[in-house]
Amino acid sequence: MSPDSTPAGGPGQDRRGAAVVVNPSKFDDDDAREEFRRTVTAALTGAGYEEPLWLETTEDDPGRAMTAQAREAGVGLVLAAGGDGTVRMVAAGLGESDIALGVLPMGTANLLARNLDLPQKLDEALEVAVGEGERRIDLVRISADDGEPDHFAVMAGIGADAVVMESANPDLKRVMGSAAYVFSAIQNADRPPLKAHIVLDKGRRREDKKIETFDREAVLMLVGNVGYLQAQIPLIPDAEPDDGRLDVLVASPKSQPGRLKLLLEVLFRRHHEDEAFDLLSGRRVEITVDHEEAYELDGDPIGHCTRLVAEVVPQALTVRVRPTDR
Ligand SMILES: [Mg+2]
Repeated sequence: MSPDSTPAGGPGQDRRGAAVVVNPSKFDDDDAREEFRRTVTAALTGAGYEEPLWLETTEDDPGRAMTAQAREAGVGLVLAAGGDGTVRMVAAGLGESDIALGVLPMGTANLLARNLDLPQKLDEALEVAVGEGERRIDLVRISADDGEPDHFAVMAGIGADAVVMESANPDLKRVMGSAAYVFSAIQNADRPPLKAHIVLDKGRRREDKKIETFDREAVLMLVGNVGYLQAQIPLIPDAEPDDGRLDVLVASPKSQPGRLKLLLEVLFRRHHEDEAFDLLSGRRVEITVDHEEAYELDGDPIGHCTRLVAEVVPQALTVRVRPTDR
C-alpha cells in the first residue's frame, strides 16, 4: 500500500499518526512478518490512522529507543507487538504522556493484556487497539541500587521468582512453558533466604507520609501494580491498576520444605492466605536485602541488586481497552 492511498471506509481527513513497535523475533519467517505488517497497517489505516511508523526492536534494545522515536514523531497511538518485555518497554516509554498504548500480545504470558482483559488473538486485539475504549492506569517507577529509574506496568520481583525467571532454560521454556520454571524452582529451592528490610509508605500522597517498616527472612518479594498473572489466578487479589497504590507480596516461609512448596505455589499462582505471606499496600516501598539478588520486571530478568525502590505514578498511562470495560 502506498503511503498516500486512502482506504475505503477511512475518514480520509484528520488522519492520525501511529507507530508500531514490534519484536521481529516473534515471527517464524519473513513471510509471516510481512503478513503481520500488512494486517496491522490495514487495521490502522482502516480506522483513520496514517501509514504507521514501523519500528522493530533489537536484541540490544527491546523497545526503549523505538518508543522514544515514536514519541518524538508526535503520534497519538503506539502499538506494542511482542511479549511482556516489548510491552513493558513501550508502556514505560509512553508514561506520563497522552499517547495511547495498544497491545498486540505475541508472548507466552502477556501479563498486561491478561490483567486488563485485552484479547490475545491478533484480529480482536487490533480491533481494541484502534478502537475507542481507553483506560488510564498507574505505572510504577522503580530504581535498583543507584541505577536510573525505570517503569513497569505489571510487577517487579526480587528473590526466588526472579532467580527462576533468570535461570529457566529458554529452549526448555519454549517447549514446556511453566514446567521449565518448576525445574528451575526445584534447583533453586535451597538458596538462602534474603534478610530484607522493607520500608512502606502507606500515605495516599507524597505529602501524606505514613511509614511502616518490616524485617523479614524472605525467599521472594513481589511489587505488583496488578493482581492477576498467568492462568487468571489472583496473586495479589486486591491489586488494581488504577487505584494509585502498589501492592507488595512478601513470602517468608519458615522451613525448607515450606520453601519448596511455596515456590511451587507462587509459580502456579496458587497460594492462599497464609502466615508465611505478607500482603502490603502503599504508595512507595523500599526493599533492602543483605546480599545481591536477581530481580525481574514484568517477568524479564533485569540484573542484580541489594535495594529496590518502587513508587506508584498514578494514572500515568492510557491503554486501549475493550469499549465495554469503561
Ligand atoms: Mg494499584
